[in-house]
Amino acid sequence: MAVIKETIIAKYGEIILKGGNRPRFEKLLVSNIQNALRNIGKCRITIKQAAIYVDEFDEDKIDLITKRMADVFGIVSVTRAALCEKSLNVIFDTAKEYLKDDLSMPQRFKVEAKRADKSFPMTSTELAIALGGMLDDQFPDIVCDVHEPETTVRCEVRERGAYIYIAQKCIKGQGGMPQGSGSRATLLLSGGIDSPVAGYMIAKRGVTIDAVNFFSFPYTSERAKEKVIELASIVARYTSKMNLYIVPFTEIQLQIRDKCPEEYMTLIMRRFMMRIAERIAKRNGSKALITGESVGQVASQTLAALDVTNAVVDMPVLQPLIGMDKLEVIQISERIGTYGTSILPYEDCCTVFTPKHPKINPKRGDVEKFEARLDIEELERQAVEDTELIEVYPS
Ligand code: ATP
Ligand code: MG
Repeated sequence: MAVIKETIIAKYGEIILKGGNRPRFEKLLVSNIQNALRNIGKCRITIKQAAIYVDEFDEDKIDLITKRMADVFGIVSVTRAALCEKSLNVIFDTAKEYLKDDLSMPQRFKVEAKRADKSFPMTSTELAIALGGMLDDQFPDIVCDVHEPETTVRCEVRERGAYIYIAQKCIKGQGGMPQGSGSRATLLLSGGIDSPVAGYMIAKRGVTIDAVNFFSFPYTSERAKEKVIELASIVARYTSKMNLYIVPFTEIQLQIRDKCPEEYMTLIMRRFMMRIAERIAKRNGSKALITGESVGQVASQTLAALDVTNAVVDMPVLQPLIGMDKLEVIQISERIGTYGTSILPYEDCCTVFTPKHPKINPKRGDVEKFEARLDIEELERQAVEDTELIEVYPS
C-alpha cells in the first residue's frame, strides 16, 4: 500500500496577466501567505508555474492551512493533493490509495493530466488515458464520462513530483489582488451591513484600508463602539492590521440639529463625514474614500443626494456597492463573516438623528446655504483633534 504524502496547492488568478510586473505581485502574494500562516507553525511555501505549493507542515494543520490560504486575496483556488514520485507505477499506486474513498461510490468520472515537466516520458493525454483506464479497472462502480463527469481526477506532473487530487474538492479562494499591491484608501465604516462589505471589496483589489467611524457619545453607547471595532477586526482578517479612527461627532450633529432644517439633517451630516474623512485620509496618504451606498436604498442615496454628499471632497469616492441589491450585499456579508455583528441592535450615530422626512431631491445650493450657518472649519478641526486612533488586528 502506498504511503501518502499530502501537500497543498493553490492557484492564483489575475496576477498571471501582469506581464513584466508579475514577479513583484508574486513576491507580495507569498509574503501575504506567510503572514496568514504565521502562527500555524513551520511550513515551506514555494511558487512555480503559476501555482503555490505549501508543504513540510504538521499533518494535523492541513485543513487550517487550506482554509487560511483560501482567504488570502489573489488566490482563486486551494486544494489538498497527494504528492508522489514521477513514475507511472507510483502514480497508479498513489491514486488507488488516495482516491479510494472518493471513487468507491457509483459516479461518472474523468481524468485530466498535465505534464508541466517535459522530461516525463508520457504526454498529458497518454497519462490521462492510462490513469483513467487503471482507475476504471480498479473501482468497479465508476464509469468514464469525459463530457459530464461528476468527479474530475487531476494529475499534474511537475518539477517536484506528481500531484493527484479531485478538482471538485478544490476550495474557492477569495480571488482579487494581493493585499498591498494597490496603495491605500480610507473607509467610512459605520456599524451597518454595507460599509464593511464595501471595505472588503476594495481591499480585495489589493488596496490597504484605514477606517473612520463617527461616533455620537453619549447618544451612542460604548457597545456600539465595540461593535465597530469588532467589524473592523473582521475586515482586517482579509487585509492586515487596520487603523481605525473614531471621530467624536455629537457636537456637529447637535449644531446641525439646532441650526439647519430637519429635512437636510442627514445630508449635512454626511457632508461633514466626507470632509473629515478626507482630512484624515490626506494625512495618511490615502488616495480615495470608500463608502457603502447603493443607489436608491434610502433617501440619502438618491443620485441627487449622492451628488450633494460627494461634492464636498476632491478625492475619488469609491462606492463598490452602488449597483447592488441589499440581498446581494447581505450574501457577501454573510460569506465574509461581518453579517452577525452588523445586525447587532446597537444604535448608530445616524439613526439617532434621522429626520422624519429627509430631502429626496436636494440641490447643492440649498445645502450650502444652510450649512453656512455653521462654523464648519472650527467644528471639523476640533473633531479631528479629538479623534481617537485604535489599531485593530484580525479577529
Ligand atoms: P451602512 O450599512 O454601511 O451603515 P447604510 O445603508 O446604513 O450603510 P447610510 O447610513 O446612508 O447607509 O450611510 C452611507 C455610508 O456612509 C455608509 O455605508 C458608510 O460608508 C458611511 N457612514 C454612515 N454612517 C457612518 C458612521 N457613523 N461612521 C462612518 N461612516 C458612516
Ligand atoms: Mg448605516
